[in-house]
Amino acid sequence: MSDVVDKANEWVQQRLDDEIARRQQRVNKPVVIHQICIDCDMPIPKQRLEKMPSAPRCVECQTLHEKQEAIRGGYR
Ligand SMILES: [Zn+2]
Repeated sequence: MSDVVDKANEWVQQRLDDEIARRQQRVNKPVVIHQICIDCDMPIPKQRLEKMPSAPRCVECQTLHEKQEAIRGGYR
């Protein structure tokens, strides 16, 4: 009976190790934080960076950029 418990524990431990390894990979992945909008050089609000740390643009420029992308995509 204890064999079954050991196997189960082993399996759980393996899953935990996998999960921890996966999380560490995610943490180690460098996230570029743009504190200044790449389009208008204005500081990006902290609130936005907290929600989207990799956002390279301020809200206005991102909206504009997405509209331009949509227009560009429309011609294809
Ligand atoms: Zn901007």
